[in-house]
This record gives sequence, C-alpha cells and structure tokens, in this order.
Amino acid sequence: MPDRVDILGVPMDCVTMSSAVEAVDTLVQGDSPRAIIAVNPEKIMKARHDANLLHAIQGAGLLIPDGIGAVIAARLLWHKRLQRVPGSELMPAICDLAQRKGYTVYLYGAAPEVNRVAEARLRSLYPNLRIVGAQDGYVPESRMDEVIEAINNSGAQILFVALGSPRQELWMGKYLHRLQVKVCQGVGGTFDVLAGKVRRAPKLFCVLNLEWLYRLLSQPARLIRQTALPLFAMRVVREKLTVLRSS
Ligand code: UDP
Repeated sequence: MPDRVDILGVPMDCVTMSSAVEAVDTLVQGDSPRAIIAVNPEKIMKARHDANLLHAIQGAGLLIPDGIGAVIAARLLWHKRLQRVPGSELMPAICDLAQRKGYTVYLYGAAPEVNRVAEARLRSLYPNLRIVGAQDGYVPESRMDEVIEAINNSGAQILFVALGSPRQELWMGKYLHRLQVKVCQGVGGTFDVLAGKVRRAPKLFCVLNLEWLYRLLSQPARLIRQTALPLFAMRVVREKLTVLRSS
C-alpha cells in the first residue's frame, strides 16, 4: 500500500491517480470494508478538533491528496512531489475500474432528484457498470438500519457516499463496520456535478490549482468553510520552521 505522510497530525497517502485506482482494486479484493477519504486543508483543520473525524480518517484504507493545500504541505514538510487526486475525478476512475472488472456499485447520498439523475448519467457514461442500488441522502437517522440493510442486500462491493463533509466521513466512521461493501468512497458534491446541478470549475481553474477559488466564487456561502485555510498555511509554515530549527 502507498506511502503515508502526516500533515499536522492527519495522515495522507502519497498516491497518483493511477496508483490510487490500483489501491482501490486491491481494497476491493480485501475482506473488510475500507473507506476512501479525500484529504484537504479544511478537513485537516477540522480533524484536529474532532476526535470522531480524526478516527474515521485514521482508519481509512486510502487517503487521497484532494486539496492543493495538502499537496503543497506534503512537499514542504516531507519533500513529496505529489499531484492532486481530486475525489471528484477518482470516482469516475473507480466507475471505469468497476465496469472493466464487473464490480457492483451503490449510490448513497444527495437530494432524491440529484441521486436519480446522477445514476442515469452514470448508466449512460458506463453502460456496463453494475449499479445495484441507489438511495438519496435525506433519510432520518431513525431509518439508518433500513439503509444499511438495503446496501448489504444489494450485494454492492463499492459504495459511493455523497453526504458532504464531514457528514459522510462521520457516517462512514459510524456505520462502515456494519456494511458488507469492500470500499466506500466519500464523494461530497460529486453527484450534484454528475447531475448537472453544480458545475465543476472550468479547466483553467483546475490547471492553475484554483478549483477551490471557483467553488468559493460560485457558492459564496462556502466562505465560512474556507476560513480555516490561512490558519492551515500558518501552521504548516510553523511546523516547517520547527523542523528546520531542530535539524
Ligand atoms: N447531502 C445529503 N444529505 C444531507 C446533507 C447533504 O445527501 O443530510 C448532500 C447534498 O445534497 C449534496 C452533498 O451532500 O449533494 C454536499 O455537497 P457539498 O458540495 O457541500 O460537499 P463537499 O464536497 O463540499 O463536502
């Protein structure tokens, strides 16, 4: 399995898109359910103060370098030359893997209409993909046993959970051990993108690693979530200085 580094107390795997897909393939062959979690500065800062979130991250089978801030931190602190592996791009890559290998997938999360349209879109993009079930993400906690049972009865090997962060990570931390899937990826707003409800950043923003800025401009309500960024940058620089001073 890939090299794992520590960013401010939170682990992250040094993977590329292709080694991440290979790792997923290995996890699907395993015998216990494992989570795939996207690591970015916002989540790192949150995990420092949320023991349940940190626990879910620490137990994950694959921690992808999703945010550019986390990629830069890995370079600064560990001299790792990583590229971003965005969760929203890993999901289609996993669908492609699943289609090739005949793995079964289940789609849990997002609003009912979004969930339906995302499923239809996946069926047209991957005609041989075996989607064995889907459930929107607005089921009350009191009905969670039914959701778990439906996922288990579907025979899904790969579960995509689109509840947003940190809700989906906490959900995985709480329920993964009761699931019979092999892999469970937290995909945030990816169903909304698939359904055409939210647009992904134009290519230029992605190339310049400014996808976060595009999301901020198109969804200003996210500003609150981004306030952790400057603090993250300060902490990484402080940690780097501490290492330099002691060497
Ligand atoms: N969502 C859900 N159930 C909830 C709350 C949110 O299914 O109780 C879904 C919401 O409909 C959306 C996704 O979670 O599809 C959140 O997307 P967002 O872009 O906020 O996630 P991020 O990628 O930023 O974590």
